[in-house]
Amino acid sequence: MPHVSKPLPAPQDAEAMKFSEFGRLLAGPSGIGELMEDLGHALAAGGTGIRMLGGGNPAIIPAVADCWRRRMRELGDDPAAFDRMMAVYDPPRGNPQFLDAMAAMLRAKYGWPVDASHLAVTSGGQTAFFLLFNLLAGRQPDGTVRRVLLPLTPEYIGYANQGLSEDFFVSIRPRIEFTGAHSFKYHVDFAAVEEALAGDPSIAAVCVSRPTNPTGNVISDDELVRLSGLARSRGLPLIVDNAYGIPFPGIVFGAAAPLWNPDTILTLSLSKLGLPGTRTGIVVARPEIAAAVAAMTAITGLANGTIGQAILTPLIASGEIDRLVADHIVPFYRRKAALAREAVAAHFPAGSDYLVHANEGALFLWIWLRGLRCGSSEFSQRLKSRGVLVVPGRFFAFGSGCDRSHADQCIRVSYAMDDDTVRDGIRLIAEEYEASRSR
Ligand code: PLP
Repeated sequence: MPHVSKPLPAPQDAEAMKFSEFGRLLAGPSGIGELMEDLGHALAAGGTGIRMLGGGNPAIIPAVADCWRRRMRELGDDPAAFDRMMAVYDPPRGNPQFLDAMAAMLRAKYGWPVDASHLAVTSGGQTAFFLLFNLLAGRQPDGTVRRVLLPLTPEYIGYANQGLSEDFFVSIRPRIEFTGAHSFKYHVDFAAVEEALAGDPSIAAVCVSRPTNPTGNVISDDELVRLSGLARSRGLPLIVDNAYGIPFPGIVFGAAAPLWNPDTILTLSLSKLGLPGTRTGIVVARPEIAAAVAAMTAITGLANGTIGQAILTPLIASGEIDRLVADHIVPFYRRKAALAREAVAAHFPAGSDYLVHANEGALFLWIWLRGLRCGSSEFSQRLKSRGVLVVPGRFFAFGSGCDRSHADQCIRVSYAMDDDTVRDGIRLIAEEYEASRSR
């Protein structure tokens, strides 16, 4: 079996060490921890020939990577800018030039009435969610505990362990549309969302990723506007996780208008543009929330990494980032997505009982293996032993109300890696699925 990851600490370590409640919640094993260990060891450390269809690492797109290298040379050739980037803390909210450039871009592109007071940089989108979720939900001053509603699950694995109280998420199952012999699509079940909002006073916020990780779904403009209206009518913020969305990285294959208003909290990230190593996320929210995020950054981390912001600022101001997205990033992922769908069609026998979710954005195919009896974790382990990493669907089903048995028949397959890896990995997935059905 190829070496993939070092073992995570055993769950009992947290107890043996007499860790706190915080430690018990955050220092033990988790789906996202396992995924990032696999990803890090398979990719960052040089890999071992493993077909890495597991993590959410973006591709290294040559023209985009050239741009980052050019910016690093420009920064290196400008001693004042270089020293500032390497040797000076930014304010906790983020680099002022970067914040101004971002706000100007959002005003110019979408007419949103935002300035730097509406923005806060975080150490990646992941940290933005940790801060936002625990700012809004969890134990309240009056002793009650509030929760986050996920209106369309399966949802992003990275949220699952972020709450600092138990039972943090309320998950709404999707309405499933069967769109073809081997295709399906999730829609928001508004009746269920409305019922949950009406019947559960503990809901503190609504959160959706658009495009959705793991499914590649992009909730429609109508669904988004309706969710925004529902949240607003109850005085709740709607958090929209735009890690793959517009304006960057723009990995959306159809039309999808972005939305922001003072009751929306939009998060962006530089990661899927191709800069995950810079750990840069951006929160766009009403000033009280942006200020709270900046205050939490000061306490938990003093300031954020400077490099991503320094690389990007002039590219935002000049519009070069839009050209990178339109000319390179979107065409790249469009092609990869088509290649992955074709590989599934080519390698799964026509009579096989599988369905692929509508592939509308992000880096993943979400494949529903309806004949899977062993569960998604066991299936992923079998694939791992054949040199293919995927993420078991069960990790994306969390929170009260989610459909664990459905997600446990699904796997998430990334198509960001090179063509041969994607094709070959999908071939092995199809083979292993057919083999598992005849066992
Ligand atoms: N949100 C979604 C939906 C993601 O898929 C990811 C990463 O894969 C993140 C947030 C966090 O990414 P980062 O912390 O690299 O910005």
